[in-house]
Amino acid sequence: MHDRKRVLVTGGAGFLGSFLCERLIRDGHDVLCVDNYFTGSRETVQHLIDDPHFELIRHDITFPLYVEVDEIYNLACPASPVHYQYDPVQTVKTNVHGAINVLGLAKRTGARIFQASTSEVYGDPDMHPQPEFYRGSVNPIGPRACYDEGKRCAETLFFDYHRQYGVDIRVARIFNTYGPRMHPNDGRVVSNFIVQALRDEPITIFGDGTQTRSFCYVEDLIEGFIRLMGAPQGVTGPINLGNPAEFEVRELAEMVIALTGSRSHIVYKPLPTDDPTRRKPDISRAREELGWEPTIPLRDGLEKTIIYFDWKLSERRVSEPALRVEESVPAPRSPNIPKLPVNAALAGLNGTHVSVGSHSL
Ligand code: NAD
Ligand code: UDP
Repeated sequence: MHDRKRVLVTGGAGFLGSFLCERLIRDGHDVLCVDNYFTGSRETVQHLIDDPHFELIRHDITFPLYVEVDEIYNLACPASPVHYQYDPVQTVKTNVHGAINVLGLAKRTGARIFQASTSEVYGDPDMHPQPEFYRGSVNPIGPRACYDEGKRCAETLFFDYHRQYGVDIRVARIFNTYGPRMHPNDGRVVSNFIVQALRDEPITIFGDGTQTRSFCYVEDLIEGFIRLMGAPQGVTGPINLGNPAEFEVRELAEMVIALTGSRSHIVYKPLPTDDPTRRKPDISRAREELGWEPTIPLRDGLEKTIIYFDWKLSERRVSEPALRVEESVPAPRSPNIPKLPVNAALAGLNGTHVSVGSHSL
């Protein structure tokens, strides 16, 4: 018999959260999505709102929440450096007070609880690639610390609730993830470059572009979430989830220009303080304990993401409601953008609608 669970997703109206909510509903669960709309929006989950297995609540997790649930995914927290540095004190509160509140809820209800931690707990790493036992190199007083140290403290809380109260925890350290439904003004590198390229605006590389990142397509990541949550008792993590293929930021820029056929040129801007120089996950543990590894190469994921942004930036988004997948996607602006059938183009949007969200920051 199917085991229908009541699942709470905090930050469910954000980029990753919206994919997770969809996946959980598809897997036959009831989803309670909680979000304060700081970087997420109702529009991101608009296509789920009429689903009887989906419920949306505006709530800030820095305040306690009293609901009855079987599982909790704690994703609430802005992920883009631009956004988490916008109100750093709130970022710390979301990570620390928020973790205490959701862990308290897990303790009371006996729910299994998943934490969306981050590769940022490794800071600017002096071990490469980064395995889970590496303790990191984080500047505790820099502009990124509200996020890095906030997430590190959240991990501490998760493991203390586990040791002290027996709470069933799952901690994933997520590396850079991208895909459709990132907000055009999100500020992270993949969405920035694609939007700039589609608009033929300068591509802004921070520093000399030799810093590296490893980019995971969103659907691969969500599969990792589900496997970690479903792993046997005692698998607590932390487990790295990310794509180990490593790219320089300037390689990413060149790839985006080539795939979009853009006339954009590259401009170099100062490197932000404490910007990590290298980042690549060691995913041996995820392979061994979850049988998980990414399947979507960067080029393929970028193509899907470019098609989404090309549609998103086109005029039809302004006044029209959600695009259904059975409708046709507007022809790509550039001849270099592959003309995929709509279901393939919007793969990752799981057979429902595409949202037309607008965030306000
Ligand atoms: P996002 O900014 O799109 O989504 C975060 C969501 O959390 C938004 O909907 C936002 O409104 C909500 N939120 C923020 N503060 C809140 C609060 N106090 N109460 C309730 N809701 C709140 O980011 P994302 O990329 O979807 O990231 C989701 C989670 O995954 C975050 O915790 C992030 O730290 C983590 N993560 C993401 C990545 C990535 O590359 N996407 C990498 C590492 C970690
Ligand atoms: N970056 C860039 N141009 C941009 C945005 C980001 O060169 O317009 C760089 C940024 O300095 C970092 C990398 O791209 O080295 C990834 O940045 P992002 O904000 O996506 O995430 P991070 O991994 O730094 O948290």
